[in-house]
Amino acid sequence: MYTVPALIPIRKLAMTTLPVVTYPDPRLRLPTETVWEFDEALILMIMDMLDTMHNDRGVGLAAPQVGVLKKVIVVAYKRRQFALVNPEIVFAAGNELGEEGCLSIPKTRLMVPRATRIEVAAQTPNGKKIRLKERGYIARILQHEIDHLNGILIIDNGTPIPDDDRD
Ligand SMILES: [Zn+2]
Repeated sequence: MYTVPALIPIRKLAMTTLPVVTYPDPRLRLPTETVWEFDEALILMIMDMLDTMHNDRGVGLAAPQVGVLKKVIVVAYKRRQFALVNPEIVFAAGNELGEEGCLSIPKTRLMVPRATRIEVAAQTPNGKKIRLKERGYIARILQHEIDHLNGILIIDNGTPIPDDDRD
C-alpha cells in the first residue's frame, strides 16, 4: 500500500482545510465527474482533502464533501492513509450492520449495512490503475466514501442505533 505524501513531489508549505459541505446542501446529491487529468492541481486538492479530514478527525472524506464534484476520496485509518481516484466497487460479499457517522451530517450516528469484503478498482493520484481487496472497517469506510461519489448518504440506508440500556 502506498501513502499519498510519498508519491507527491510537491512540498506543501501549510495545512489547508476546506469548508465541509453539510446536509442538506444539494452538492452532496449531485453526480460526480470522472477525473482524466492527473496533474498538480489534483495532488494539491487531495492534500487539502487530507488536511481537512484530519482536522475534523474523520477517517475518510469524499470530494463532494468539500464541494468538488469529482471522483476522489481519501481514507486514513490506523496506519494506512491513501487517496483513490475514480474508485469503483467491482466485487462485494457479505453483509454486516455497523455504526457510522459522516462529517457532512454532524452529530448523527447510524447503523448502516455494508458488505464485509470488497474489491475496488481505482487509480492512484498519479493515474496508475490499481485494485484493492479490503475487509473489515477499511471496507466500510471505502463503501461510505464511494457512496458519496454517487450522491448516497448514510441517512438513506441507515437505521437508528439500538438502545443498549433498554431491557
Ligand atoms: Zn460521509
